Amino acid sequence: MDFKLTEEQSELQLRVRKLVQEKIAPMANEIEERGDYPFDMLALLAENGLLKLLVPEEYGGQYPQILALPICLAREELARGCTVTADAFVMQGLGSYPIVGYGNHEQKSRYLPPIANGEEIAALGLTEPDSGSDVAGAKTTAVLEGDFYLLNGKKRFISNAPHAHTYVTFAKTDPEAGHRGLSAFILEKETPGFQFGERLELMAPHAIGELVYENCRIPRQNLLGEEGEGFKISMYNLNIYRTTVGAQGVGIAQAAFDAAFSYAQERVTFGQSIINHQSIGNMLADMATQIKAARLLVHHAAWLRDSGVERVAKDASMAKLYGTEMAKRVVDMALQIHGGNGLVRGSVTERLYRAVRALTIYEGSSEIQRIVINNEIQREARK
Ligand SMILES: Cc1cc2nc3c(=O)[nH]c(=O)nc-3n(C[C@H](O)[C@H](O)[C@H](O)COP(=O)(O)OP(=O)(O)OC[C@H]3O[C@@H](n4cnc5c(N)ncnc54)[C@H](O)[C@@H]3O)c2cc1C
Repeated sequence: MDFKLTEEQSELQLRVRKLVQEKIAPMANEIEERGDYPFDMLALLAENGLLKLLVPEEYGGQYPQILALPICLAREELARGCTVTADAFVMQGLGSYPIVGYGNHEQKSRYLPPIANGEEIAALGLTEPDSGSDVAGAKTTAVLEGDFYLLNGKKRFISNAPHAHTYVTFAKTDPEAGHRGLSAFILEKETPGFQFGERLELMAPHAIGELVYENCRIPRQNLLGEEGEGFKISMYNLNIYRTTVGAQGVGIAQAAFDAAFSYAQERVTFGQSIINHQSIGNMLADMATQIKAARLLVHHAAWLRDSGVERVAKDASMAKLYGTEMAKRVVDMALQIHGGNGLVRGSVTERLYRAVRALTIYEGSSEIQRIVINNEIQREARK
């Protein structure tokens, strides 16, 4: 057993940390205030080669195969400095990984290189107004007519919705077949019959909105994998990206801890720094312990996936569940340590308090992670 990062992994971690400290964190408040997609930060990530972690080498990426651990290392550091930039980073992967896994050579050659170099923005259109957790309950339909699939329906809560060039989206090619009736498609921005619906304003800035399909004509060759493989494709995506949400939780929690630790050293009450009050010290100890536990879970789940272990759903869900629930608790404690100052708009804790809330909802809520973990535990017990 070896808990050390390799030289290459350490180099990546330090390189992203430096980039965040010098160029991203100082912009965090401004990016938040803009409240829109951070095009300048995407360009910076591309310039520094970070988007290459999300695409295989053959199509403009860094490694022959996509590796979860480097993505987690980068996402943690980015989230530590600016959650909006971390979101932009990871969406390039979430929206392209189905193409990596299920695309043919032509699809990969057309869509992946511009995502790896930041020229095009990727998105994933799965959730609908009436189906979020229940992916198989999707109502959007796709009917093959000649050389085109005609899609009808609506997607909601789609990150990057107003800005992406390439969407991987899902629709029922066989509405009677439950999850086996779901298929995945590559959708280009300019496709006839496709338009943006409402743009949603969330409690923390996030470019997000609706996609509307009215006889949206997707060329037949843009079907991803086979008809009926949509559910499998969406789960394939989550097995890697859920772990990285845990990493985002760790990054947010680390930023909250750093702020609380400095504040606790400086702030004086009753004649001494508050870090010397036992209940504040205990909070910091709990925070540090929980951050470390979450980071280990994230790294372990990523390592399992990168080692070629096939069934990683349980570990990915544990990393996501613990990493994101931990982040909510840690941010709350950090804010408590700041007293009234922690609530002031624009302060680190106020920003993180709003930003952390979505993590236990997207890519499968905490309730859904517990279902996955419980199912896997029972499956293992039957073996
Ligand atoms: C910031 C943000 C970004 C997002 N980005 C994307 C994106 O890019 N692409 C995309 O497709 N989607 C995206 N989503 C949507 C997200 O994946 C869904 O919100 C999520 O899957 C939950 O679905 P829902 O909101 O419809 O809640 P529902 O499924 O309606 O759930 C409501 C509540 O019931 C609970 N619940 C549901 N079923 C069960 C059950 N069986 N047992 C116990 N409890 C249950 C849930 O945990 C939740 O607490 C995003 C959401 C957010 C907030």
